[in-house]
Amino acid sequence: MPVCAGMTVFPNLFNCVMGREMKQTNYDVVVVGGGNAALCAALSAREQGASVLVLERAPESERGGNSAYTDGKMRFAYNSAEEIIALCADLTPDEIAASDFGIYTEEDFFDDMIRITQHRTDPDLCEILVKNSNAAMHWLKSNGVRFMPNYGRQAYRVDGRFKFWGGAPIVTWGGGPGLMEALYKSAGIKGIDVMYDAWVRDLIHSDSGVSGMVVRINGTTRSIAAGAVVLACGGFEANTEWRSRYLGRGWDLAKVRGTKYNTGDGLAMALRIGAQPFGHWSGCHATGWERYATDFGELAVTPSFQRHSYTFGIMVNANGRRFLDEGADLRSYTYAKYGHIVLEQPGQFAWQIYDSKVRHLLLDEYRTKYVTKVTADTLEELVEKLEDVDKAECLKTIREFNQSVRKEVPFDPNIKDGKCTAGLVMPKSNWAQPIDTPPFEAYAITCGITFTFGGLKVTNEAQVVNTNHEPIPGLFAAGEVVGGIFYFNYPGASGLTSGAVFGRLAGRSAGCFAKNTRVAA
Ligand SMILES: Cc1cc2nc3c(=O)[nH]c(=O)nc-3n(C[C@H](O)[C@H](O)[C@H](O)COP(=O)(O)OP(=O)(O)OC[C@H]3O[C@@H](n4cnc5c(N)ncnc54)[C@H](O)[C@@H]3O)c2cc1C
Repeated sequence: MPVCAGMTVFPNLFNCVMGREMKQTNYDVVVVGGGNAALCAALSAREQGASVLVLERAPESERGGNSAYTDGKMRFAYNSAEEIIALCADLTPDEIAASDFGIYTEEDFFDDMIRITQHRTDPDLCEILVKNSNAAMHWLKSNGVRFMPNYGRQAYRVDGRFKFWGGAPIVTWGGGPGLMEALYKSAGIKGIDVMYDAWVRDLIHSDSGVSGMVVRINGTTRSIAAGAVVLACGGFEANTEWRSRYLGRGWDLAKVRGTKYNTGDGLAMALRIGAQPFGHWSGCHATGWERYATDFGELAVTPSFQRHSYTFGIMVNANGRRFLDEGADLRSYTYAKYGHIVLEQPGQFAWQIYDSKVRHLLLDEYRTKYVTKVTADTLEELVEKLEDVDKAECLKTIREFNQSVRKEVPFDPNIKDGKCTAGLVMPKSNWAQPIDTPPFEAYAITCGITFTFGGLKVTNEAQVVNTNHEPIPGLFAAGEVVGGIFYFNYPGASGLTSGAVFGRLAGRSAGCFAKNTRVAA
């Protein structure tokens, strides 16, 4: 992205402050939040020559928001394997030869966004996301982020080759923690100040716009002046009361998959000064999750709570019945809406059932100690072990399922193979195989909420708009704070891309705004 007109890019004017006392109380740009969107905004504002401060509510050991909890999967448009190879510096010739990366064009990305959001995604925001997705990957790389192909999770080895599916073939090195480590390192090198334990409580606002914020740092409340503010402080998924209020009945009972610090503060403080709510405020991303997981994410164990291999088995509820089509689509296009359906089941739980034919396809987290799991050599024994489930009905369900599978269709985990059931009220559309090969395994799950979809209305320059449909001078937003991008569901791996694209845009806009305001003054 270009430097804004009439501006100078300053050399490294400010010494890096990481978590210690600030050296100044007046910055060109202050970024609220410490995740991917925030760091991208900070780096981008710095590119414009702005002095930048990042205020992260979490302590340093828990920095990075939900972004640090991710696998680091990123969806972006690409037209050839060469583009993947260019991003993944460490690929060997053997790995390249054994990989079919396919292509994922801007049209594919658009189609997925429109189909998955049921035609609700805001056309302008969607276009910004899709058309800047590829460039954002290269920009992240230039900021020290490393990428690698997502072998084993987005591609299974079939006949010696990995065929990638689902539009997200690569991940960041070291997953979410690796991504955040790289971005914080880059921020340090580029002279961006970072304060931890910095809980932003309010915006300072007048008729001329936003000029700073009130923040509690290490227990002391103070004001910081800013030429522009970027809100990149997440949604409200960790706020039990807001979940019940906006998402509805039962959502207070969901487990939070990520950070406990995303309590909707940025949304609340923006709404207080007249910002316009936008998007799907009663919608969220939620998945199947270990039934007895901790209430909030914990960086060391959270990846082990994921249960995303349901496409290769079946799920039953307390009544012993299946309640969704486990094979409706590739996992990337269903997992974010299935948590909601699990939450609606009696007791808010379900069991995933697999046999030994697919055991090798289960993701690594199924093999950790953080599972509620039962195993048995017969189906009769297995259902006896399923806590809180109607045993007779469950056995009937499995037997009916086994009889309904179209055995003549070959199984292929890398494509929608059309291996379906016939004659069931609740079909399974792909990857349907009889559960008939012992030992059998079952895993207890509940609903884990990832992030909320409702947010603030922004312009095409990521500037926050008020309820009078006017841009609020000095206020910008990025990441989960922005509304109008995702509705009902979400194409897997779009969240980090959205944070990078809108963070970069918001940072550039905020940097330009602050500088132009300063020049005018
Ligand atoms: C377990 C899990 C796995 C995921 N896997 C993926 C994946 O592989 N790929 C993908 O694309 N997406 C994934 N996601 C979704 C992804 O995490 C989000 O879409 C994305 O990280 C959002 O980035 P963000 O910067 O907007 O928010 P966050 O990364 O959540 O950052 C918000 C920041 O704001 C801070 N904050 C909150 N309130 C305040 C306040 N009042 N003052 C100061 N700071 C505040 C928080 O401490 C935090 O640092 C996953 C999410 C989870 C939970």
